[in-house]
Amino acid sequence: MADDHPSRRTFELLSDEVRLRVITALGDASGSEGYATLAFSDLQRAADVDDSSRLTYHLGELRDEFVEKTDEGYTLTLAGIRAYQAVIAHRSVPEVEVEPFRVPWECESCGGGLEARYEGGRAYLTCGSCGDHRVRYPVDAGRIDPDDPESITVALQNTLIRDYTSMFNGVCPYCTGHVEVDFAFDSDHWDEFDVATDDIPINAACTECSWFVYVNLPAVLRIEEAVQSFFAERGRNIWEEPVWTDEFVWTRESVTRDPIQVEGYFSADGDRLRVVVDEHLTVVEREILEEE
Ligand SMILES: [Zn+2]
Ligand SMILES: [Zn+2]
Repeated sequence: MADDHPSRRTFELLSDEVRLRVITALGDASGSEGYATLAFSDLQRAADVDDSSRLTYHLGELRDEFVEKTDEGYTLTLAGIRAYQAVIAHRSVPEVEVEPFRVPWECESCGGGLEARYEGGRAYLTCGSCGDHRVRYPVDAGRIDPDDPESITVALQNTLIRDYTSMFNGVCPYCTGHVEVDFAFDSDHWDEFDVATDDIPINAACTECSWFVYVNLPAVLRIEEAVQSFFAERGRNIWEEPVWTDEFVWTRESVTRDPIQVEGYFSADGDRLRVVVDEHLTVVEREILEEE
């Protein structure tokens, strides 16, 4: 029955201003030591509820599901922590905007200079000449410092590394749902998105909340131990390499369909790591070809 849907109950519980203030107060009082436990009077002050019987009523509504009562007072349950995280994520979307500025990378389509900007909760890397997007991805506004435009590329890098690592390992970074990662040969996503590339799009999508990314193969292979150590042994930490410059070390050699198999090379210091990937994006062959 739709009325018994758990998310409906969640939204009902959280639709009240006092209840939201209680969750926010308990979350805000927490720190690196762990989640806070507040005595009734402290919680009353922190949540700014004058009427104590009103607070008692709403604590009763939140009890067990979002808030737990212990001998010391009130603390968030795991669902309460999740609700607090949702509040925080929402709270940190103020009107932050950063005008386009030149960043030290080039457009793959035309060789023009890339520009970074931040608008509507998303960070963009866009070609100043042809207008092609290289990256467009939601980044928490709390990580953007309008007085320091470089904070955009730093925040974008950190967000993409976190999300890619999580998603390519099969876990959604936003809802912890299961993520499917597949070749998307016939997708027109990159055309719609004005990305001129002959790369094969790979789609990673959460089966629960539908969060998705489209990436190219080297971005997915970044999580492979063989790829990481190939670069590490040549003095490079690929986690520090901007995600949007993967191509400079990757050369695709061949692609077959039915069954899908992609072969290519990573290059560093004149050496190459040859990689063959099957339709499940599993590395089925790898070998290092050292410079002669
Ligand atoms: Zn361009
Ligand atoms: Zn999800």
